[in-house]
Amino acid sequence: MNTANPIDNLQTLLRCPSITPAEGGAISALAAMLGNLGFAVSRETASEPGFDDIENLYARIGTEGPHLMFAGHTDVVPVGNASDWSHPPFGAEIADGMLYGRGAVDMKGGIACFVAALARYISAHGAPNGSVSLLITGDEEGPAVNGTTKLLEWAAAKGEHWDACLVGEPTNPDQIGDMIKIGRRGSISGHITVAGTQGHAAYPHLADNPLRGIIRLTQALMTPVFDHGTDDFQPSNLEVTSIDVGNTATNIIPAKATADFNIRFNDTWSVETVQAEILRRLDAAAADPELRPGRPPVKYDISWSARPSHVFLTRNNALIHSLSQAIESHTGATPKLSTTGGTSDARFIKDYCPVVEFGLVGQTMHMVDERVAVADLETLTRIYQTFIERWFAHAVA
Ligand SMILES: [Zn+2]
Repeated sequence: MNTANPIDNLQTLLRCPSITPAEGGAISALAAMLGNLGFAVSRETASEPGFDDIENLYARIGTEGPHLMFAGHTDVVPVGNASDWSHPPFGAEIADGMLYGRGAVDMKGGIACFVAALARYISAHGAPNGSVSLLITGDEEGPAVNGTTKLLEWAAAKGEHWDACLVGEPTNPDQIGDMIKIGRRGSISGHITVAGTQGHAAYPHLADNPLRGIIRLTQALMTPVFDHGTDDFQPSNLEVTSIDVGNTATNIIPAKATADFNIRFNDTWSVETVQAEILRRLDAAAADPELRPGRPPVKYDISWSARPSHVFLTRNNALIHSLSQAIESHTGATPKLSTTGGTSDARFIKDYCPVVEFGLVGQTMHMVDERVAVADLETLTRIYQTFIERWFAHAVA
């Protein structure tokens, strides 16, 4: 087994049909690669009533600090219609310099490159002067209940602690080296119900149209803007994603209306303060008589999504500089330090140690014909190896 070759590693992983929650052989294949490099490998199956059991992996080489963690996932999203693919989604075929397969960039490719970088590092320097761990879940693309959070809790309970973490998700919009993610916005969703009184559209004084209320409330959520952004984050943004009454008749005023919304917020807010601001806007709008002259305030209920995501920003220079210098030395370009995009498992890891994200080019993730440039696999492997060298040099110094 030549684990120093990221192409071999990736082809092995891509041939495992590990669509969440299936392990598909991917965790076993990775366990074999890491065992071969001298890692102590633990496989943890996580369970939770109402959810599928998930196989996860934690592997460590070394027993002392400093301790660097690499985090990622071997599960992949479904392939859609397999016949739409120009190469079989679990075939790992190479054509015109591209390697095809579900998970090629999101994110078996990142794992394949990190393993190759470790193999090269170990053959050049021996085992690291400290420890490297891989925390790999099979439940990132699914509910994420039996994945990274459980694995972190399990490892921390065993006494594991980490000095820094690199997540290998695809972070580059166009080219390797474009972008490191150093934080993520928070996210929370809500559901609003406005109660009205059903009636005849010709006799509105006998009814109370809940659409008047829901329009006023949702308008208040969308304007004015929550903030103007910061040096590190784009402005917070709330989107109303649905307004429903389920009415099939034009002569009936409906009895109730509901609306859904999601807000992505920057570090000028916390989950608590953004919720308080939303309630303040809703209460003010409910009392506003503009759409309902002479009526009492709109009666509304709100419920929040069960698991909000907290905003975070990493400011660890050893971690950010080691990675950014490694990228510059292999691509000649200075990566942008960004907090854009959706949430990732980094939001759980940030409670344990500083975390940044850097991987392949994300353009084809979750698409038909997901693929990675073979040349990018070599570039990312070199970046990861230089990063490991520089991080240990920084951390030990
Ligand atoms: Zn991913």
